Amino acid sequence: MKNFNPADNIQDLQYFGEFGGVNPSISDSSTYTFLSAKTMFDTFEGNMEGCYLYSRHSSPSNLYLDKALAAMEGTETANVSASGMGAITPTLLQLCGSGDHIVSSRTIYGGTYAFLKNFTPRLGIKTTFVDITKLDVVEAAITPETRVLYCETVSNPLLEVADIAGLAKIAKKHNLKLVVDNTFSPLSVSPAKLGADIVIHSLTKYINGSSDTVGGVTCASQEFIDSLKNVNSGASMLLGPTMDSLRSASVMKNLRTLHIRMKQHSYNAMYLAERFEKDGLKTVYPGLKSHPSHELYATMINPEYGFGGMMTLDVGTLAKANELMELMQAKNLGYLAVSLGFYKTLFSAPGTSTSSEIPMEEQIEMGLTDGLIRFSIGLDNDIERTYQMMKKCMMELNVLISESVLME
Ligand code: PLP
Repeated sequence: MKNFNPADNIQDLQYFGEFGGVNPSISDSSTYTFLSAKTMFDTFEGNMEGCYLYSRHSSPSNLYLDKALAAMEGTETANVSASGMGAITPTLLQLCGSGDHIVSSRTIYGGTYAFLKNFTPRLGIKTTFVDITKLDVVEAAITPETRVLYCETVSNPLLEVADIAGLAKIAKKHNLKLVVDNTFSPLSVSPAKLGADIVIHSLTKYINGSSDTVGGVTCASQEFIDSLKNVNSGASMLLGPTMDSLRSASVMKNLRTLHIRMKQHSYNAMYLAERFEKDGLKTVYPGLKSHPSHELYATMINPEYGFGGMMTLDVGTLAKANELMELMQAKNLGYLAVSLGFYKTLFSAPGTSTSSEIPMEEQIEMGLTDGLIRFSIGLDNDIERTYQMMKKCMMELNVLISESVLME
């Protein structure tokens, strides 16, 4: 990890546009011409470095963004896609076929959970869901058919932390691929440096940061990315979740400010988490000492980017959670919306939104309670002001009792 700084790696890249512009030119073509038929054939076979064939396979704009994201994660290369799910699903389908088995964290994004629980069994791929924080339980779930260990660095929505170095050791021992979704913790954590084989992001969230597009990326070895893009057998090439060039150009521009944004998201989330915990609210944030994996996480992060911008508060009941979210939106403290990484705070009750794919009894088992609100803390300039305004909303609804009562 020493001497690896993901933001510096992005900063050190240099691109020029076609006419010497400071931004690379956007490739606005779905197909490309060849001066000779032989070169076209060779390109089709994947033998002509630097030649483009067809934009579902690759395009100059997507390759620029691939390069920047690979530099950020410290992998050989990367492949951007039209959404986070457009990165996750081809990656897993490339690694697994009929008869294969996946060991996955049980607290993952609801869409990924639904894919593994409901969709991949149709293709003969089975998944065992485990408590990813218990390495012995993870190892015990491995069978001779297991090909993949799957987790999120910081899980959605419970903010559990995966011990990536520990999982990487298990993966190596059993000859499995460790696939890590790092969507919640870009820059803060560099999973490939901790031993992950493949790192995935939903670019929709922090990396793009402006809630104006969906996007995804798979960061991995050249060999794996080549296999994903293979014209005859590559899941990305054949399933077709290609990012549009105009979009990849705009995501790349936003990527350049990610380090500044992550520092502010982390600062603001830490500020609020410390205060709401002190106020007596059930607060989960990996930066708090009370978080079960706080010490582990502190050893995993690139410290200057902090513990991230995601936090949860449990306000007791769904009705209370809904009331509070509506009031906070009315007071312009943020939006009652799914997703994360926006400049404004976003809040939702995961049990009824992003994790609704997870059956109720499983939600209870994993500790996903009714009154849980997931916050993606925004870039607010004056976070003390925000804290006071949020507290006022909470007092109005008796989520927090007033300080005078607390002091009695
Ligand atoms: N991974 C995580 C952790 C997510 O939170 C999400 C979306 O909410 C995804 C993956 C899927 O990404 P997308 O919506 O870009 O397909």
